[in-house]
Amino acid sequence: MNKVAIAIGAHPDDIEFYMAGTLLMLKKAGCQTHYLNVASGNCGSAEYSSATTRAIRSTEARAAAKILGANFHPSLTDDLEILYSLELLRALAAVIREVKPNIVLAHSPQDYMEDHANASRLAVSASFTRAMPNFKSAPARPTADYPVTIYHAMPHGFRDQLRRRVIPGMFVNTGSAHKTKRDALAAHKSQRNWLDVSQGLNSYLLAMEDMSREVGRMSKRFQHAEGWRRHLHFGFCGPEADPLAEVLGKNCLINKAYERALEKGV
Ligand SMILES: [Zn+2]
Repeated sequence: MNKVAIAIGAHPDDIEFYMAGTLLMLKKAGCQTHYLNVASGNCGSAEYSSATTRAIRSTEARAAAKILGANFHPSLTDDLEILYSLELLRALAAVIREVKPNIVLAHSPQDYMEDHANASRLAVSASFTRAMPNFKSAPARPTADYPVTIYHAMPHGFRDQLRRRVIPGMFVNTGSAHKTKRDALAAHKSQRNWLDVSQGLNSYLLAMEDMSREVGRMSKRFQHAEGWRRHLHFGFCGPEADPLAEVLGKNCLINKAYERALEKGV
């Protein structure tokens, strides 16, 4: 049976920055793919009201999901309101129970922005509750027991919030998906205007491009890549389960330096 994957970003355009290449590669390999931004992006403008910005960015996110060929799920809250709360956990648990993903692509648990870190924690806990009928999702959805593996994206700037360097545990070759990833990012047109004011023309596209090439360089094999760290398996799947590597084959490269560092307890 084909696998199901969901990318859970904090804000509209986070998936396109950190995860979309991998989501596209999974789609190409036959997986069913899903797309959810936990927050609406309502704070991403100094020009429009919260309600107008929310509406604009929802339209843009839908267009981006369409370009990625992923099933779109509406946002659950607003920017800076991604708190590790029971309300959001119940809402995200309902999405997980509907989608039944085998692969969850989430933010890094450590990142410069609390929304990213909280979205990551919520994705982990919502996945954990998939087979627990006594934890109620909102809306209520039936539970199911099946293996799920969680992968965490690179933090912004490859640093945690204490400035420590974070390196990928695995690399996904996103070269053949790069153009579509860029098109999906460009669908967030309001962000072009918003960031260009302070950072120059098409700066957000260039920032994504730089990050993609940087991870590619780290891999020493791929031109464009996304980096991932696999979550500990307890409560989710078998100890060796690595569906990303399994599905993507030679387009997925384990970072031996990271594996060695893990064993040393660094
Ligand atoms: Zn973000």
